[in-house]
Amino acid sequence: MISKETIFEALKNVLDPEIKKSLVELNMIKDVEILGQDVIVNVTLTTMGCPLKDKIKKDIISEIKKVEEVENVEVVYGEMTKEQKQEMIQKLQGKGERKNPFANTRVIAVGSGKGGVGKSTVTANLAVAMSSLGYKVGLIDADILGYSIPQIMGINKERPTIIEEGVIMPIEKKGVKVISMGNLIEKNDALIWRGPILGQILTQFIYDVYWGELDYMLIDLPPGTGDVPLSLMQSLPKAEILIVTTPQITAASVAKRLGFMAAKTNNKITGVVENMSYFICNNCSEKHFIFGEGEGEKLSSELGAAYLGDIPLMTSIREGSDKGNILAGDINTEIGKIYNKIAKKLEHLG
Ligand code: ADP
Repeated sequence: MISKETIFEALKNVLDPEIKKSLVELNMIKDVEILGQDVIVNVTLTTMGCPLKDKIKKDIISEIKKVEEVENVEVVYGEMTKEQKQEMIQKLQGKGERKNPFANTRVIAVGSGKGGVGKSTVTANLAVAMSSLGYKVGLIDADILGYSIPQIMGINKERPTIIEEGVIMPIEKKGVKVISMGNLIEKNDALIWRGPILGQILTQFIYDVYWGELDYMLIDLPPGTGDVPLSLMQSLPKAEILIVTTPQITAASVAKRLGFMAAKTNNKITGVVENMSYFICNNCSEKHFIFGEGEGEKLSSELGAAYLGDIPLMTSIREGSDKGNILAGDINTEIGKIYNKIAKKLEHLG
């Protein structure tokens, strides 16, 4: 005879595809009925419009069919009440005071002296490279007004699931959990918010997004050392700063400002990455140092930070960003090899 206990045991293996916790643990299994060799599972969804309900159904059927004697499985959906949803959210976020979601996470804020150096491209590629090393990685696009992460990650058209006010599920791509303003507003909406509102949005990105347990959180800071990056860094006291620069930007000109920001916010500058370092010509295979040489290393020594490496100017990097197809996680590509080295250096600095 099939018992309810055996079915519940089997259901413990079915995870909510977004929250990544078992349906049983999330109290999403309302009831199980057993009629001879047929099993009916009543599932309560956060919303009837749940885009992943077919996947949930498929996973339930496949797990229960593994139970001996089971012939047919039927899945019936219901919707959570407001109270049930609140209960689930409390369970996910922890009761009482807002907990620091990054208590066990290395937070790496990626900054630059100015815009256009490839900071967002490097952040996204590095996030994918860290994920390919087996880490659980998150990515916050803190450049609210000038967001470019959705384009680079190829998630322009995606919208995060909002379970309830206060619980936003990040969008997952290439193993990286991402949140960006670009996925929350309609295109062409003019963004005219000022400092305090930007700060509130960033606080929501940290606390209202369900990140789960992450090993690394990469934050794409707005360029420069203005009020927004400054106050964000102040709210993340344990965060490390990673600087992206190009050989064209003289180390001395940015070192002072970035060093000042880090000292003011009490954050450590962990490392420097030099982007657009050189160009390898197709004809002569030689490195051409178009923008100069050695400024990244100079900057790292002026800041007392590690030099994590250089990234050449490559058409494939620009194309990858434009098409939303990041190759940094593929060790068989040149980009993958370069980023793998940088990711491993970063890993060892932790
Ligand atoms: P930032 O975030 O510093 O403003 P972006 O990441 O948006 O800069 O990059 C600016 C432009 O440079 C983008 O078009 C991007 O594709 C391109 N880019 C960045 N790094 C490289 C590289 N190493 N090789 C070629 N193009 C690059």
